[in-house]
Amino acid sequence: MNIQEKKIIETIDSLTDDMIEFAIRLVAEPSTLGHETCAVTVMKKELDRMGFSTSLVPLDRGKLAGHPGFAPVPWSLENRNNLIGILPAESAGGNSALFNGHLDVVSAGNPDFWTRDPFSPTVIDGWLYGRGSGDMKSGIAAMVYGSYAVKKAGFGLCAPLTIEGVIEEECSGNGAIACLAEGYDAKAVLIPEPFGPTILTDQLGVLWFKIKLSGRPAHVQKASSGINAIEKCYTLIDSLRHLEVRLNESDIPAAYTGMEHPINLNIGVIEGGDWPSTVPSEAQFHARLSFFPEMSYERICSLIEKNIRLAAGKDPWLRDNPPVVEFYGFRSEGHSLSRDLPAFKVLDDCHRSLTKEEAKSYVSTCTTDLRAFHRFGSGQPTCYGPVAENIHGIDERVHLESVINVARAYALFIARWCRLAD
Ligand SMILES: [Zn+2]
Repeated sequence: MNIQEKKIIETIDSLTDDMIEFAIRLVAEPSTLGHETCAVTVMKKELDRMGFSTSLVPLDRGKLAGHPGFAPVPWSLENRNNLIGILPAESAGGNSALFNGHLDVVSAGNPDFWTRDPFSPTVIDGWLYGRGSGDMKSGIAAMVYGSYAVKKAGFGLCAPLTIEGVIEEECSGNGAIACLAEGYDAKAVLIPEPFGPTILTDQLGVLWFKIKLSGRPAHVQKASSGINAIEKCYTLIDSLRHLEVRLNESDIPAAYTGMEHPINLNIGVIEGGDWPSTVPSEAQFHARLSFFPEMSYERICSLIEKNIRLAAGKDPWLRDNPPVVEFYGFRSEGHSLSRDLPAFKVLDDCHRSLTKEEAKSYVSTCTTDLRAFHRFGSGQPTCYGPVAENIHGIDERVHLESVINVARAYALFIARWCRLAD
C-alpha cells in the first residue's frame, strides 16, 4: 500500500463507529416489500450529509414494461424509489465503478421465534443482530463508508463513482433494472452481498411461480363427494419434487459439479379453503425454483408447465380441471464469469494487500442483482461482502469486523480502479 492508500485506510478506521451506527439505523427500519421508503430516506440523508449528489429512481411500470429484464409483479409500484448517489470524477484516466446494495429485506417471520426484536438491532460480542443486518444493510454501510473515506481523506477520483440503494432485490430485481434503464452503469460493479470476502463467479437462475387449482366443495359429512383442492396440491408438489431431482442430475455445469443439491425448490406459500368443516374448493401455492446458468428462463418455464400438465393428466379430476400456472416475480437467468476479468484482478489485489491471502471464488446457489448488470449492463460485476449468518432466518447476524474489512477493500478498490486525482 502506498501513502495515499494508507491514509484512506486510516480514515476508514477513524469512521468505524459512524459506519456501524449507520448500519444500525438502517437495520432498525422494517423495509419489507412495499415499505422500503423508510430505509431509502435514512440512506439518502447519510449520502446527502457526506456530499454525494443524490437522486431517486422510481419503479415506473410504464417505463419498465418495455425492458427485457422487467419481472411482472402483482403488487403496486407506486411511490417506490431506488436511491442513487454519485461522486463525480475530478479528472480523467480512471475506470468508473458502481456499488449496488439492496435496501429491501425479507419478512422477519414470527418475531416470537427471535431472541430479540428483529427490528431493534443489537450488538453482542462483535456481531450485529437484526433482520437485514447481514442481507444486506451492513454491506451498504461498508460501501457507503468505503467511498466516503476516499473523499474525506481529501482525494478526488479519475472516474465517476456511483452508489445505488435499490429495492425489490428479494422478489423481482426490478430496482436494479430501473436504475440500469435510467443509464446508471459502470465498468466495475461490486455488490456487498453477505457471502464473505470472496469473488462471486457463478450464480444460478431463479424464478417464482404460483399454481392455482380448484376442487369441488362439500360438507365434510359427504366429504367423499367433494374434491379437496388443498390435497390436490400435494400431487403437483410431488411432481415438482421429481423435476427438482432431475434438474440436479442433468447437465451440471463444471462450477456446480460435486456440490450437494445445488438446485432447490421451495414451496413458500400455500393458501386455500375457508372453513374446517368444508372441503376446500380452491387452493394455490407459490414456489421458487433455481436452475443452472446454461438454461434459459423460457426453457425452465416450459419444463415446469410440462411437468404440471403431465402430473395433472394422471389425475381424473385435474385432467378435467387443469391447474393454472402463473409466473411472476423473479425471472432471473444464471451466469458464469471468469476470474481473469480486470476488475476482479484489482479486487483480488486489494484483498491480498489487506489480508496477505488470495480471495476465494464463490459459486452461488441463489440469485442477486448481479444478473441485471451481467445481462443488461456493460461492466464487470461481482459480489464481495461481509460474513453473516442466518440470513432470511431467525436471529440473523453479521460479523462487524468483516463489515469494516469490506469497507477497507472497497476503498482500496476505488483508489486502484477509479484512480485518485492529483
Ligand atoms: Zn441480499
